[in-house]
Amino acid sequence: MTETEKEYLTEPVIRVGVSTCLLGERVRFDGGHKHDRYLTGTLGQFFEWVSVCPEVEMGLSTPRESMRLVGDVEDPRLIAPKSGTDYTDRMKVWAQKRVEELASAGLHGFVFKKDSPSSGLFRVKVYNEHGMAQRNGTGMFPREVMNRFPLLPLEEEGRLNDLPLRENFIERVFAYYRWTRMLEEEPTPGGLVKFHTAHKLTLMAHSPKHYTEMGRLVADAGKRDWAELTAEYGAQLMDGLSVMGSRGKHVNVLQHLMGYLKNDLSSEDKQELLGLIEDYRQGLVPLVVPLTLLKHHLNRYPVPEWVDQQVYLHPYPKELMLRNHV
Ligand code: SF4
Repeated sequence: MTETEKEYLTEPVIRVGVSTCLLGERVRFDGGHKHDRYLTGTLGQFFEWVSVCPEVEMGLSTPRESMRLVGDVEDPRLIAPKSGTDYTDRMKVWAQKRVEELASAGLHGFVFKKDSPSSGLFRVKVYNEHGMAQRNGTGMFPREVMNRFPLLPLEEEGRLNDLPLRENFIERVFAYYRWTRMLEEEPTPGGLVKFHTAHKLTLMAHSPKHYTEMGRLVADAGKRDWAELTAEYGAQLMDGLSVMGSRGKHVNVLQHLMGYLKNDLSSEDKQELLGLIEDYRQGLVPLVVPLTLLKHHLNRYPVPEWVDQQVYLHPYPKELMLRNHV
């Protein structure tokens, strides 16, 4: 394990919220669970889970009657159709209190259970007065989480089976963790410059436009109100990283990195690396292939310090093997 990778495992920990039933706890309305082994097995090595079950924590028993969202998509009611009980107000009061508790837990992301009227994040069914459903709602609790923590990376367990979405979510969690650490440990213009410099190539692989706009904010550090400036920078950072990377943008970054080795590599080494970058561009090999060779050469030859410090080279622990799939 490299020093950079060890750093991920030191305090303070990466703390991620999770719907309790995904951890294997029998808290569902029917007395069951929805254990997700990728979360507990793989991600659990790197994240400390903070579990939340809205329905049980607001005082309901297990098993219990099932619920659904009803009415206005933007402001639905939470109803148990069998008994007709309306749990909306009770859930809202509980959720507002719970997100305040979570603020002191210092979360770096949240994984929600899909399809649940209480916990689902995307495309949750909302029923109209005729009992017809449209899949365009958000569960009651994620709605509060989004309002309280607008920058927090959020996902659903089902979407994490999509490998590019998985890679993107995990990259955002680690980036948000580094961002909050910078704000806690080095909240100065110098700290911001260092953070921005280290994320240059990461941002280039997602959204060069965001990188340029964020550079303007960094240039203003020291002249503008710090809280306002970092709030804007943080929003741009998380927005920029939400833009999915593409093969074309990764190829640009790889070629840019290769440029620092142009006087060191033999023509055979250059041809080999260019060949792998081209294979990646054509979709014949995953990103990890040209990147591994490039990192090997970057370790062999002297390159500017800022190149070595690029988060792009180590965005998350290699054990997660995320670049084997993008
Ligand atoms: S989906 Fe949410 S409310 Fe339902 S059991 Fe899981 S954590 Fe609890």
